[in-house]
Amino acid sequence: MIDIHSHFFPRLSEAQARMGEAGNTPWLAVDADGRSGQIMLGERPFRPVTRELWDAEARVRALDAAGIDLQIVCATPVMFGYAWEAARAAEWAASMNEKAARYCAVRPARLRWMAQVPLQDSRLACAEAARATREGAVGVQIGNHVGAKDLDHPDMVDFLVFCAERGIPVFVHPWDMMGSAGRMRKWMLPWLVAMPAETQLGMLSLILSGALERIPDTLRICFAHGGGSFAYTLGRVDNAWKHRDIVRRDCPELPSSYARRLHVDSAVFDAGALRLLTDVMGDAQVMLGTDAPFPLGEQQPGALVRSCDFLGDRARRGILEDNARAFFGLGACESVAASTPANS
Ligand SMILES: [Zn+2]
Repeated sequence: MIDIHSHFFPRLSEAQARMGEAGNTPWLAVDADGRSGQIMLGERPFRPVTRELWDAEARVRALDAAGIDLQIVCATPVMFGYAWEAARAAEWAASMNEKAARYCAVRPARLRWMAQVPLQDSRLACAEAARATREGAVGVQIGNHVGAKDLDHPDMVDFLVFCAERGIPVFVHPWDMMGSAGRMRKWMLPWLVAMPAETQLGMLSLILSGALERIPDTLRICFAHGGGSFAYTLGRVDNAWKHRDIVRRDCPELPSSYARRLHVDSAVFDAGALRLLTDVMGDAQVMLGTDAPFPLGEQQPGALVRSCDFLGDRARRGILEDNARAFFGLGACESVAASTPANS
């Protein structure tokens, strides 16, 4: 199995975090037992976390237990630094990418990494994407927006064209969720309501703006969490395109016809949702993504995909491994099937 969606966070002290922006730079407070800790933003606790996040050996033990042969890690979105001054964010991105490379170098057959880039400046973002892929990154992870710029903004499109031309795979992660400070203060609502909407907004920005007409079809782009609310509401979007000229204005083809240009991960946690997702996107566009090691991720990696008989063996193998191999251009990986728990 190949897991394409997981996060790391380096063991950054409060002093090391000062190279970012004061009070806004994440760092890691590790508990005395070394097994758990807290991502901090300045003085403020942001999220409780566990050792796999910063300790590659602990991560590989978890991969062994889950039967995952290869895991692709990327930054925890709080590390993006998109609101910072661009040159400082570029320096920060390069430093975090170096830490990602070092983390994966502990077990290179089991761990690979995607780079982060200073997306607030497309020229610097392209330069870091090129540099990081030369250093071994298998792709780049970007947030779905930078402030008011969605993926249809000319700067974002420039970056995506660059990635398409250079053959750099792009993984889009929702972040900086809409409405978080207002009506969504309780019950993790920004993660449950706004995150799926952010992802859908990213996908629709590319489709309805006509950006996919301008970006070469060599672009390999994947959206997290099964594309959020995209698949379920695509019929509504097609209907709007048919009946309102303002929806058709920039988008020459039926919106659903662009779905096959996009990939998604499989983190939807429900067989009915996975069935809809594979119907809408095509099963070859779906790749296993666990969102490890966070609690909102898939706790038994691959179990949902394996339980879905409607997929058939070829489609299941594709989602669990082959599609990721093609998307990221990966060679064969070490198999840990022997250590896969029988019930996973
Ligand atoms: Zn994630």
